[in-house]
Amino acid sequence: MIPRFKNRPACEGTDTDMWFTTGKSDYPNRELLTRICNGCPAKRECLEYALTYDVDGWWANTNTILRRQIRKRRGIVAKSVIPEWELRTRGA
Ligand code: SF4
Repeated sequence: MIPRFKNRPACEGTDTDMWFTTGKSDYPNRELLTRICNGCPAKRECLEYALTYDVDGWWANTNTILRRQIRKRRGIVAKSVIPEWELRTRGA
């Protein structure tokens, strides 16, 4: 599922790779990502999307660990980003 925000994301057109990490490493461009997200007009929508769906990467200045903590506090159960029909096809 690709999110569509009302406001144009500040990360649009940036290098996609810097928004994700491999393994357990931290984000090497964390300060840059933070600055970009802080100035993003879609930040609120982005955070809600990232809390609603089980996404990887850096979203609205949160990583997966922080989002897990926020979901727990708010009682949110993250939905899969894989559509229901595809999960059924896979037998999951
Ligand atoms: S808040 Fe979300 S949409 Fe905006 S720059 Fe950050 S990751 Fe991109």
